[in-house]
Amino acid sequence: FMRFDFKLLDFVECEKDFDKLAVCGSNKDLTWSELKNEVDSFKKKLQKYNLPKGHPVLIYGHKEVDFIVSIISCMSLGFPYIPIDTIYPKDRVDKIASIVKSAIKIDTIENKIDFNQSNISTSYLLSDPIIYIIFTSGSTGEPKGVQITQNSILDFEKWLNSDFGLSKDSVFMNQAPFSFDLSVYELVGFLSLGATIVLNSKDTIENHLLYFERLKKYSCDVWVSTPSFISKLLLSSEFEEKNIKSLKTFLFCGEVLPSNTVKRIKNSFPSSIVLNTYGPTEATVATTLIEITSDILEKYSKNLPVGYVKENSKINLLDIDEQNIGELEIVGDNVSIGYFKNEELNKQKFEKKYEKRSFRTGDFGYFEDGLLFFANRKDELIKLHGFRIELGEIDKELLSDKMVSESITIPLKRGNDVAKIISFVIGSKSLDIEVLKHNISKNLPYYMIPSDIVVLDKFPYNSNHKIDKNELINIYKSI
Ligand code: AMP
Repeated sequence: FMRFDFKLLDFVECEKDFDKLAVCGSNKDLTWSELKNEVDSFKKKLQKYNLPKGHPVLIYGHKEVDFIVSIISCMSLGFPYIPIDTIYPKDRVDKIASIVKSAIKIDTIENKIDFNQSNISTSYLLSDPIIYIIFTSGSTGEPKGVQITQNSILDFEKWLNSDFGLSKDSVFMNQAPFSFDLSVYELVGFLSLGATIVLNSKDTIENHLLYFERLKKYSCDVWVSTPSFISKLLLSSEFEEKNIKSLKTFLFCGEVLPSNTVKRIKNSFPSSIVLNTYGPTEATVATTLIEITSDILEKYSKNLPVGYVKENSKINLLDIDEQNIGELEIVGDNVSIGYFKNEELNKQKFEKKYEKRSFRTGDFGYFEDGLLFFANRKDELIKLHGFRIELGEIDKELLSDKMVSESITIPLKRGNDVAKIISFVIGSKSLDIEVLKHNISKNLPYYMIPSDIVVLDKFPYNSNHKIDKNELINIYKSI
């Protein structure tokens, strides 16, 4: 066993089994002792820049081992890290960099560090230090930086280690990019337990057979993804317990878990454990948890519960209606200290009304038998393939084109799920849709690019003088 000397977070200081695999990246694998050596030498490299404690560091890359090495180094040196996956176009990365004013951008693909001396004085040193800032889509057009502190991570870690049935022998299969806080499950899980994390590049994720090969090769037992991701893989006859014997726990978060998906998992993996969890990035990964047993599946097949609220947090229902549905307000140490430099929005969303921090989620739900159920959303935040999208951000981007005078983006649903997003614009007759799509893709990640953009002369309005979204859908279907 060996000790990791990480000052910031207790759990990374624990003893780890040095011969065991720690990180299996897209480029190479590292045992715990190799990981320690890489972290020690990368820390020395970073220290040469003399950054003040609390200085934010951008980490740009994909699923390289070095991404994890960079994260641990930042945690250890007291630099809040901002994970940015390659799914973000360059302009968005630059925008985030200009918002946080980081002097350092680590590029784990090209293996280099960009240094901007003029930003070096920036520092956010708090008594409860910020561990990471994850940028999510924001309806005003600017991505929002959710700041998560040490105490929130420790609170999350305690819950993860007590209620999820994990152990130091767990091998986590990572699918989500590091810029999506779902990946914090595997990250904190493998680090705190001294377990193993398997990272998968986009190419592997898109090739299901390769994905199955890696599950087998590393004997992965903990699956973490959004429900949409697994539903595609469940179509494959290869994806079965007898082929991938190690898989035991299927952990979901980020969007509605349909009971059909659970049924299919239980058919293909009869001895598995399926866990549903719920929560926004603003409350550190998740706040509720439940094992979807066969009994639960049968009892609540119309709408599966998202679970019991974790210890040390509370969920209040605000403005309850006659069906006992209210807006979910999360209270607890897992709640973020707020969006990065966004006092206006922080006042609305993170009201200071209790002893502990609270966050108004914009989600609606209800309690039954002590269990929380998700009902729907208040605003224009949608989930497409598990990715969080504020539709207003797409409109804002479209409107930045001189040829576009008005824009409205709506989700097209299949059942309860968003199947695609369509934008309707009013603009110049000579508007070239492909050029417009290309232009917005410089700023928006691929999953935020609408499937279609429809040019109209005017929008249809309903009797309340609101844009008639149903009529827009009819127009789209008739084209
Ligand atoms: P994100 O910050 O990307 O994790 O997205 C958070 C939002 O995803 C929540 O506010 C919910 O609207 C939705 N969400 C997360 N988990 C679930 C779940 N288990 N069931 C339904 N919706 C969920």
